[in-house]
Amino acid sequence: MKKILKRAASRKPAAEPAASGCAELANTPEQDPAALTPGACQECAELGEDTWSHLRICLSCGHVGCCDSSPHQHATNHFQETGHPVMRSHEPGESWRWCYVHNLMD
Ligand SMILES: [Zn+2]
Ligand SMILES: [Zn+2]
Ligand SMILES: [Zn+2]
Repeated sequence: MKKILKRAASRKPAAEPAASGCAELANTPEQDPAALTPGACQECAELGEDTWSHLRICLSCGHVGCCDSSPHQHATNHFQETGHPVMRSHEPGESWRWCYVHNLMD
């Protein structure tokens, strides 16, 4: 069962809309990769953790990780480990993207 953390209602990263100069957002393929672990953070699942706030999907490889409001912040961790620069919200009804390199939302 997925537990939602109350403190992280629907916090989105505060940033300007995509501006020119972000090659990462500009170069994401039109078709997102399929989620490797749909609806679950891959590392949390491996840890037996089921407490995360929101999920983010890596647009380079389809890795699903938990957001910065979650205890483990595996989405950011995935960027730091792999350098995959762009993720998209994996939450129902949300489709915004985020470039970790430029801290830019699209
Ligand atoms: Zn960028
Ligand atoms: Zn996680
Ligand atoms: Zn990735």
